[in-house]
Amino acid sequence: MQKFFRMKVTGKLDTDTMNIMKTPRCGMPDVAEFSTFNGRPRWQKNSITYRILNYTPDLPVSVVDNSIQKALNVWSQVTPLRFTKINNGDADILIQFMARSHDDQNPFDGPNGVLAHAYAPGPRIGGDAHFDEDERWTDNQAVGFNLFLVAAHEFGHSLGLGHSDDRRALMFPTYRFVNTNNFRLSQDDINGIQSLYGRRRK
Ligand SMILES: [Zn+2]
Ligand SMILES: [Zn+2]
Repeated sequence: MQKFFRMKVTGKLDTDTMNIMKTPRCGMPDVAEFSTFNGRPRWQKNSITYRILNYTPDLPVSVVDNSIQKALNVWSQVTPLRFTKINNGDADILIQFMARSHDDQNPFDGPNGVLAHAYAPGPRIGGDAHFDEDERWTDNQAVGFNLFLVAAHEFGHSLGLGHSDDRRALMFPTYRFVNTNNFRLSQDDINGIQSLYGRRRK
C-alpha cells in the first residue's frame, strides 16, 4: 500500500503504529512533521476542478456539497489555489463514497478503522478522494464522523501533503472531533501547503 501511495516502504510496525491503528483514522501511511510525497507531486496550476460522483445517504445532498466546499476552502484560504465544482466530465479531484472493495487496490474495512483515503496530485486517480460508505457521516459531533473534518484532511493529500506527526495538525493521521465553526489550520498544515503552492496573494 505504501508503495502504491508513492511513499517510502518501511514495513515497520512499532507500538505507536499499533496504538494508532486502533483509532479511527485515514488510510494513508505515516511520517514526521508535515510531509509531502516522494517527488513532491503538486498541481502545476492554481485553478483546480472537483466533482462529486455520488452522495452518501447519511446526509442531505446540500450538506455534502457544503461540507466539501468548506473543506476545500480551508486550503484555498492560505494558498493561491481556487476550486471549481463541475458536474460532468473529468475533474482533477473526483470524490466518491464507496464501501469495501472499490475502484482501486485499497479496499475499505467496514465501520470504523480506515475512514477515507486520497491520492497525491497526478493524472487519472491522482487527486481523487474516497470516503468509506460504511461510516456514519455527519455534520456535527454527536455520532459517526464529521464529513467536513475528514474531507479537509483528505484534500490535504489530494493537494500533495502526506501525514504530519504534529498532533495539532489537520494532517495528523487519526480522527479527532474539533469545533468546525471558524475552523483554522495549524501552523504546521499552513507551512506544509505553502511549501508546495506559496502564500495566498493579497
Ligand atoms: Zn491521511
Ligand atoms: Zn479508494
